[in-house]
Amino acid sequence: MDRSAVARVGAVASASVCALVAGVVLAQYIFTLKRKTGRKTKIIEMMPELQKNSVRIKNPARVEEILCGLIKGGAVKLQIITDFDMTLSRFSYEGKRCPTCHNVIDNCKLVSDECRRKLLQLKEKYYAIEIDPLLTVEEKFPHMEEWYTKSHSLLVEQALPRDKLREIVAESDVMLKEGYEKFFDKLQQHNVPVFIFSAGIGDVLEEIIRQAGVYYPNVKVVSNFMDFDDSGVLKGFKGELIHVFNKHDGALKNTEYFRELKDNSNIILLGDSQGDLRMADGVANVEHILKIGYLNDRPTFLHRCRKQPVKTFEQDRLKI
Ligand code: C5P
Ligand code: MG
Repeated sequence: MDRSAVARVGAVASASVCALVAGVVLAQYIFTLKRKTGRKTKIIEMMPELQKNSVRIKNPARVEEILCGLIKGGAVKLQIITDFDMTLSRFSYEGKRCPTCHNVIDNCKLVSDECRRKLLQLKEKYYAIEIDPLLTVEEKFPHMEEWYTKSHSLLVEQALPRDKLREIVAESDVMLKEGYEKFFDKLQQHNVPVFIFSAGIGDVLEEIIRQAGVYYPNVKVVSNFMDFDDSGVLKGFKGELIHVFNKHDGALKNTEYFRELKDNSNIILLGDSQGDLRMADGVANVEHILKIGYLNDRPTFLHRCRKQPVKTFEQDRLKI
């Protein structure tokens, strides 16, 4: 019998990324207490992070069941599959939007003003499509390919040198979410594998987590990596393009990694986009999976969707 279970928990951007790790530690304590005293206490109600107003859970009973499964399995059975931009990295800080991996490059001083203007125009057009709740994933798909193809060609025209990446990242406004140290440290201490699956730029992503001091050996990054010529100048991107809506075959394309983790059958999946929901598709042995979505742009959507009785992004995200 397929015992895989899925819950989707929505949390607004300000929710700390370490909430769940902290919560699971507390839950473990409660779980032991429950067993000792025989008291019927709901884990979900005892986890302060899940009680925040910013957290939306459609089916608390289901999430409770999954949390119990995750706790019972412990660290040895756990693995994390996570998106990067706007999931591990911050969406905004002090009211200002934070950059994605791509924006770190777009905004850097090595990119000409003319190129930056073109990249911004592309972003305005295609980001609106990426987050449009009225379009299906299938409808968005070709537009995403177009966005990446056009923006990557513009970046290649800028002949960016590899040895400037460290400086570019250090000078950027990119930030990891509050609590990232605890999140990465705890997972490293307990040897929990972390698969960062990003449609951003791998080289920038790696530099961000390296500079933050959390690029531990339990972390694997799969993303779009830059390709440099012999003199270290950007000439293209390696391998098949990963965009926001083709993440469903990520596990199939990384079979070796997931085969080695066949006993890590409990998954916590973190993302912020519709496409991220499918990042664990193709993982062979799934017992329990908790899907947590950061609803970054959702407040606007909520407002818009309430006026239009259609199937929305929001409903998709919170459905169990
Ligand atoms: O890590 P993640 O998969 O979230 O990275 C993808 C993000 O990069 C998307 O949310 C998209 O908005 C952003 N992007 C960008 N500039 C591009 C292409 C994608 O900021 N040229
Ligand atoms: Mg993202």
